[in-house]
Amino acid sequence: MELLSLSILGSSSAVPLSDRSPSAQFLQIGKEYFLLDCGEGTQVKLRQHRIGFSRLKHIMISHLHGDHFYGLVPLLSTLQLLDRHAPLYLYGPKKLEVAIRQQLDITDAHISFPLHFKVLDTERKDLIYESEHLKVHSFPLRHGVDCFGFHFEEKPLARKMRKDVLEELSIPVAEIRKIKAGADWHDQKGKVYPNAHLTLEAPAPFSYAYCTDTLPVKHLHRYFSEPDLFYHEATFLSKDAQRAKQTQHSTAAQAAEIAEICKAKQLLIGHFSVRYKSFQELLEEAKLTFPNTAIALEGYRFSLDRKTRDLQIEKENEYR
Ligand SMILES: [Zn+2]
Ligand SMILES: [Zn+2]
Repeated sequence: MELLSLSILGSSSAVPLSDRSPSAQFLQIGKEYFLLDCGEGTQVKLRQHRIGFSRLKHIMISHLHGDHFYGLVPLLSTLQLLDRHAPLYLYGPKKLEVAIRQQLDITDAHISFPLHFKVLDTERKDLIYESEHLKVHSFPLRHGVDCFGFHFEEKPLARKMRKDVLEELSIPVAEIRKIKAGADWHDQKGKVYPNAHLTLEAPAPFSYAYCTDTLPVKHLHRYFSEPDLFYHEATFLSKDAQRAKQTQHSTAAQAAEIAEICKAKQLLIGHFSVRYKSFQELLEEAKLTFPNTAIALEGYRFSLDRKTRDLQIEKENEYR
């Protein structure tokens, strides 16, 4: 069973090309869905990936550069045409709401489903969403404008009952929940069975971190650590480090360095400058520091197996 599925809808930096789109990712964790950034053309990419629009419920916008949110108004307009009624939750910088509402007003696009905006905290890590199974935090990045990363973290899972012990001791069903939560069990004769004898360790909670656009933030590990999957922008090669600094972006080597500091298990890099025709050099540069690196190009879907935590990579054509 899949633990997580991440579809890359756009991997380019500011300029769209015929085969590359600005930033957008669609993240599925269990039955919860998140759109991360919404660059121009995102709704077309959602269709190409066969992702139903009814799954859209939470949209996170990292910052208000056009390549991260210019696809949002057209998407909202389409949702209205599709007769959506369910509320939509948008998380982003302070001016996101005014930027969206003004465009909707000017174009007379009457959105009749509720839009809820959550303004992200520019100073500190902030819990922005919580469900039974999941917590999502935002945290500030360094990009010259208010810019945020997001960390998705599974809540600790309940311990698993040992089937052999369950049968041997005839434990009443009503007790099982308490035992899974960590309780010992006392049988009718008063004998105590310690929890460690009754249960198996639950798998470690997994996490995904999304960081774009930003200069390398050396203290990122204070916001999260050991993510199973870590996306970090790598707009430039080290030979263009000066340009990266001027535009407040990172190089592939810097993305790898941050992945190492955060003790990530797997790094994904993207948001590449259109100056590079091939991404092999960017990948090789990152791999020198962080060998477990893959390129997050549009049309790719990454998933993690629940048991092994192995990363699976599929191309668009293979899962259509
Ligand atoms: Zn960007
Ligand atoms: Zn930007």
